[in-house]
Amino acid sequence: MQRIVPAILSFEQHRDTLQREPVTYRPAGCPHCGLARLWGHGGYVRKADRDRSSPGSLNPVLIPRFFCQGCRHTCSRLPECIAPRRWYGWAVQQVVLLWLLAGGSLHQAAVRGGVDRHTVRRWSISGRRI
Ligand SMILES: [Zn+2]
Repeated sequence: MQRIVPAILSFEQHRDTLQREPVTYRPAGCPHCGLARLWGHGGYVRKADRDRSSPGSLNPVLIPRFFCQGCRHTCSRLPECIAPRRWYGWAVQQVVLLWLLAGGSLHQAAVRGGVDRHTVRRWSISGRRI
């Protein structure tokens, strides 16, 4: 199962899709047991909108969750504009990782990406496991 719903590229598009066509997020099958027909099971929120200040921010961003009757696990689906398991957005990660791939230091990558050096180090270590 794809954890990310493709072609939802902005928080506004995500919010509108959730309101108008929430079925877009429903997975075809359970990622744990494969059973089809998962139930909607509420959601959780993420503070994913980091580009706008508080009055114009779209936070909190709702992430839909689904429940499997077969194995009783839950799963969630993210829009493409939100990176899974990452505080920072895709663009920041891209800048940092490209800088590292080009041979830049952790410090340089942190400065370029505007993130903490420890975060860059964690990303570089997790990239080695792939
Ligand atoms: Zn299941």
